[in-house]
Amino acid sequence: MEPRSAAAVGRDFPYTLATTCYIEVHKDGRVTQGAGTDAYQRALAGESRLFAVWPGQWRSDLFAIDDLDEFARAHGIVHDEERTGLAEHIHDVKWALADREPNPRSQYVSIDLRLVCRCTVNDRRTFASQMREQQGWDMAVTGGWSRQTNANGTTYTFRVRRRSLSS
Ligand SMILES: [Zn+2]
Repeated sequence: MEPRSAAAVGRDFPYTLATTCYIEVHKDGRVTQGAGTDAYQRALAGESRLFAVWPGQWRSDLFAIDDLDEFARAHGIVHDEERTGLAEHIHDVKWALADREPNPRSQYVSIDLRLVCRCTVNDRRTFASQMREQQGWDMAVTGGWSRQTNANGTTYTFRVRRRSLSS
């Protein structure tokens, strides 16, 4: 039976689900497990083919990763403005320490942040890596974050390592 097509599933394909099992079939017939940037580049160059097992509750199906672009966007190998809500530019941000910080000595503090550049944060990991590059911030990517929208726009609350904010 031919494997199914991940491209046909589109964005609903669970590219980044922890339980999705990737299989790489190399040109020489070797089979390896897992797929990252290297595997993407080999597949792009035609040196290998990528497959994935999408685990289901009752049965699991084998899919050909036949949309490498979507694979790369899902894994953040290629920046995806639409998926992340974030342009690839220096973000214009306004931020302030959140006044409800309960512990004045904690390593991480809460900040309220607005994106004046009109980007939206759909993907905190991408925003965190952009802010690390642009401002040297060490933003928490686990734990809670929030967004609130009112007439003035959207305000996000993030946790950032206090020392990285000093600039
Ligand atoms: Zn922006």
